[in-house]
Amino acid sequence: MHVGIFADLEGAFGIWRMRQCRTGTAEWQYGRQCLTADVNQVIAGAFDGGARKVTVKDTHDTGFNCLINRLDRRAQYIGGHYARPTFFGNLSDYDLILYVAIHAASGTPDAFFPHTHYGIFSEVRINRKPVCEMDLHGAYLGEFGVPVGLVAGEDIAVKQALTALPWAESVVVDKNKKTYTSGSESARYLSGGRKNLRKAAETAVRGVENMKPLKLAGPLYFEAEFRSEDLMDKFNTWNFQKNGKVVSWKADNILDGFDNLNKLVFFPRKVYPFRGIMLMLFRSYYRIKHTYFAPAPNAEGAITMD
Ligand SMILES: [Zn+2]
Repeated sequence: MHVGIFADLEGAFGIWRMRQCRTGTAEWQYGRQCLTADVNQVIAGAFDGGARKVTVKDTHDTGFNCLINRLDRRAQYIGGHYARPTFFGNLSDYDLILYVAIHAASGTPDAFFPHTHYGIFSEVRINRKPVCEMDLHGAYLGEFGVPVGLVAGEDIAVKQALTALPWAESVVVDKNKKTYTSGSESARYLSGGRKNLRKAAETAVRGVENMKPLKLAGPLYFEAEFRSEDLMDKFNTWNFQKNGKVVSWKADNILDGFDNLNKLVFFPRKVYPFRGIMLMLFRSYYRIKHTYFAPAPNAEGAITMD
């Protein structure tokens, strides 16, 4: 069984503020340690549960957040984003995805760093219903027949994810500063939380036959509501239909619909023909930059477990 671990960042144990998710900062360097520790537990749990092969796909921002040289060497690692065969690379080979460090949907009140796909949207809807990333990515993976079997992150993010993926195992992660800056109490919380990650990953992999690929039947009507009209004008280089701050498009299936979302966010019309080469250059650049030229971590008083 080939298990994929998809890693975002906001929902990792140890992370309590936005700056820890901002690429290139010393606080982010601490955040990377947190994420790497979480992912290592999920790798271990996947192998405990019977996985034969484990691949970690790094998804947040530039796609290079895990500290590659600290990852469990039994797992393969894929950083950065792709134009083909999909935005996430090759998905057809996975039997199950475990999703780590997720966050709540755009527009969720009182949530930690809530957004859907990118911070420019105040809400993303499919067929008039607000969606979170687990709706989107879950359905995208589902189109390849791949189920999501674990979600871990802030309580509200997990709640939203389980609405779309009720069969998935879950682990709730606290987002309060005090939880991570209280000495031995924090150390206990972290080690307990990460043990839960390992256990939940094992349970998900063992129960793979109970996991279902999420299917969203077309036709699908996508609406992306921007935070402002200025942002919308800047990003809507494709002249998708617009109404106020909302850009909309129809798609026969989630793959086409998601492609349009990526066009809106990452691939302006003029850049689109060159996206393959552009992403390849980005992958090389960020891998080198974030591996060899990263700042020293600033944990701001938090307990680190290494
Ligand atoms: Zn993220």
